[in-house]
Amino acid sequence: MPLEDYRAKRDFARSPEPEGKRQAETSNFVVQEHDASHLHFDFRLALDGVLKSWAVPKGVPEEPKVRRLAVQVEDHPLEYATFEGSIPKGEYGGGTVKIWDDGEFSLKERTNDKIVVELRGRRLKGAYALVRFKGKEQSGKNWLIMKL
Ligand code: MN
Repeated sequence: MPLEDYRAKRDFARSPEPEGKRQAETSNFVVQEHDASHLHFDFRLALDGVLKSWAVPKGVPEEPKVRRLAVQVEDHPLEYATFEGSIPKGEYGGGTVKIWDDGEFSLKERTNDKIVVELRGRRLKGAYALVRFKGKEQSGKNWLIMKL
């Protein structure tokens, strides 16, 4: 079930976040600044009818060759790309969400362990790569994001 993990973690009677009903495919991306228990940035790409999502603790790099950790998290609904607001304390991800950047992208390359996109955001522009790496952490959720 798409979005099963996303919905299981949330109580939509209490959180203003979208439940995820839209199905159309678009090629947009968003970076949201999420001031939760730890401030981080969420990088989301519309792929496969959902927003593929990564939490980037130090933010998406704006300079080439700077590599940042990006931890893959559960798929989010497409509507999440326009979400800004306050998630109540005590709820999953409690804190504030603000859009830091958004725009369209083109998919240049995609394998199981690598995604290359051309971003056309207000702040982020150009080719970016996400590369999965496996260190001690064997979950496969750890990626690096870099501007090419
Ligand atoms: Mn987050």
